[in-house]
Amino acid sequence: MSVIRKVREVEKVFADLEKEMNILRHSSGLHCVAGCGKCCFKPEIEASPVEFLPYALHLLRNEKIEEVYDKLLQNTSTQCTLFSPVWGSDMKGACSEYPYRGLICRLFGYAASRGMDGEAKLVTCRIIKEGQSSIVAKIEADLKEDKASVPLMSDYYFRIRSIDPDLGTKLLPINKAIQTALEVVMSYYAYRDAPSSEE
Ligand code: SF4
Repeated sequence: MSVIRKVREVEKVFADLEKEMNILRHSSGLHCVAGCGKCCFKPEIEASPVEFLPYALHLLRNEKIEEVYDKLLQNTSTQCTLFSPVWGSDMKGACSEYPYRGLICRLFGYAASRGMDGEAKLVTCRIIKEGQSSIVAKIEADLKEDKASVPLMSDYYFRIRSIDPDLGTKLLPINKAIQTALEVVMSYYAYRDAPSSEE
């Protein structure tokens, strides 16, 4: 499968997820606190390179891929390279490439995972649990009765793995996943013309 095809498949997965999450947000009122970047402070967030193929292609099209790649090679931090924390805060910050963020970045806070007992449980952060406890309790109760429409993490990881069973099953520290995605796109287009923005 060509890189372009894989990128389109990833974008489709992200678009479907966004639709499902919007249904949950609008029906429950569940929301991230404005300006909060707490989850991005976590070191060694894991992602697969497939999730960042759209980002890598975007950089290629804008002739920025080598510059970003060189910066990544010098970056020894375990914190996500795309994260822009607010100086002096351990909670505030933003994703510098929000449209190209990874799968876990989209799922966390608004998705469910099945426990050993097979029951789906909402996976969300302490800030949401404490600040929106009645909303979270209602979603949990609805999940128990199979009444809630909450994206299931396993469904989306399965779809991402299916796009490229090799790259899609590799869960790497996020900076390594981004670096690998850039390497895949750079080597694929080493002897091919870069795709135009229309392609
Ligand atoms: S890709 Fe963006 S949202 Fe995901 S961890 Fe990095 S900064 Fe946060």
